[in-house]
Amino acid sequence: MHYQPQYDLLQNRIILVTGATDGIGKEAALTYARYGAQLVLLGRNEEKLQQVAQVIHQQGYALPQWAVLDMATATRADCDAVAQQVGAMVPRLDGVLHNAGVLGDIVPMDQQQEARWLEVMQVNVNATFFLTQALLPLLLKSDSGSLVFTTSSVGRQGRADWGAYAVSKFATEGMMQVLAEEYKQHNLRVNCINPGGTRTKMRASAFPTEDADKLKTPRDIMPVYLWLMGDDSRRKTGMSVDAQPGRKAGIAE
Ligand code: NDP
Repeated sequence: MHYQPQYDLLQNRIILVTGATDGIGKEAALTYARYGAQLVLLGRNEEKLQQVAQVIHQQGYALPQWAVLDMATATRADCDAVAQQVGAMVPRLDGVLHNAGVLGDIVPMDQQQEARWLEVMQVNVNATFFLTQALLPLLLKSDSGSLVFTTSSVGRQGRADWGAYAVSKFATEGMMQVLAEEYKQHNLRVNCINPGGTRTKMRASAFPTEDADKLKTPRDIMPVYLWLMGDDSRRKTGMSVDAQPGRKAGIAE
């Protein structure tokens, strides 16, 4: 995506990022800070959260707040508790990036293990939904809120062996579409980003033989992450946007 954001695109905006401790989420947090946002970081590992907050602070930006949430076990009540914690830190949320996710096993459907299937659905769908419900009141306090989910090309077109992950991303697309319709008359837009193959730990575990140098880095795909959080995408809702338009799904060649 060719997008040249204003340097202060996210000034006065408060943005929460899940899975902010690694890969794309960590880069998104750094990028949002660079463009002026105040951040709330969510993750399951407090030490990693502190490290990301410190890196952002050392680069000269406001020290982010953070909260710990293990989405593999999170109930609606846990998400309510986190939302309460966040509500004590900030007056509202102008953006939420649902980025945390797990891959599960890349095996045919008849070999999908129950525990792994449930873990993928719990993190990618259930906890993401419970957290959304819990954070909606803070998002609706913004005069221009942006709720962003993370999808995948296998969430639009099924692919052999991508079982639980593909099904969870189809569910993510559905969740985004329903919410986008429901909040059409409010100051809240709801969209998905499909990062496309990106150089992270998750990608390496999905394609262990792939040459990672042929992949875009998290930093390369940030334009669309910025666009959806800033005013330039005001009133755009119900879309599933590719961070790498035109990229063919599958292994990098
Ligand atoms: P990474 O594995 O690099 O990062 C995943 C993030 O999610 C980490 O911060 C991780 O935390 C967090 N996370 C995992 N499990 C939990 C949990 N139980 N509770 C809370 N946080 C958790 O993945 P990517 O950066 O590659 O992926 C980010 C998103 O992009 C995902 O939704 C993924 O499905 C999607 N995506 C990625 C693509 C790619 O090519 N990389 C392509 C298409 C979609 P921790 O640091 O503690 O491990």
